[in-house]
Amino acid sequence: MSVYLVGAGPGDPRLITVRGLELLRRCDVLVHDRLVAPELVAEAPAEALRISREPLGQVAINELLVAYGRSGLEVVRLKGGDPFVFGRGGEEALALAEAGVPFEVVPGVSSLQAVPASAGIPITHRGLASQMTVFSGHDPDIDYRALAGAPGTLVAFMALSNLEAIAAGLIAHGKDACTPSAVVSRGTLPDQRTVLASLHDIARAARELESPALLIVGKTAALAERVAPAQTSRFVFSSQPPIERARPAQHRERLREPAF
Ligand code: SAH
Repeated sequence: MSVYLVGAGPGDPRLITVRGLELLRRCDVLVHDRLVAPELVAEAPAEALRISREPLGQVAINELLVAYGRSGLEVVRLKGGDPFVFGRGGEEALALAEAGVPFEVVPGVSSLQAVPASAGIPITHRGLASQMTVFSGHDPDIDYRALAGAPGTLVAFMALSNLEAIAAGLIAHGKDACTPSAVVSRGTLPDQRTVLASLHDIARAARELESPALLIVGKTAALAERVAPAQTSRFVFSSQPPIERARPAQHRERLREPAF
């Protein structure tokens, strides 16, 4: 075995898996993403070669993994969250498979469920959401009709810079403008921030939030108000981050009060 595609978890370095940490602590080469916690990069042996992915394009990374993999060194490719959830881990796995380099995928805790959970938002909840739809907010061809019609919870990755268009697109295709919505920024990290608002107001309310952030649209988002304050803090250096609830927009005669 030579190359390990390892999920680092959503942000808090303690959320890596036991298997991931074990491999990290004995690797010869570490290729890591920018979003990966520095505490995890520090877990690699002192003599390990550390390569930041940032200046490299995807083709170069694939080539690098294949080359180091062939050399027989133990290579850990550490990626934020889970390697196969919007992480291009699939592309790296295909490159390794085509090159005949043995590899293992070590799943990670994805921000998909960890970030909402950390903010007190269950992505499914009996009676409120029995289905979840995940999409990239970065995609130029978002199918708003399908998303607006999908029951349950919508979760958008890479949506922060496109919030206004996403909310408008969903509402234009029939999604209730009062649907409870949340943006969670820097989830599971000590400076995590959560903003709650109706779908109509969410872009305005989340204007100042920082990347990385996740958009959650659906009835369960409203549960954050009750769950988050009651959740025991995991954060060592800060208390459970407060939830910011947006005040409704001024001109919204046509809107009902949101459900929270
Ligand atoms: N493979 C990763 C996702 C990589 S795509 C995973 O499984 O989590 C990067 C996107 O993930 C960001 O734009 C953001 O939408 C989301 N994300 C990653 N970490 C996050 C965090 N700590 N808080 C909020 N969103 C996060």
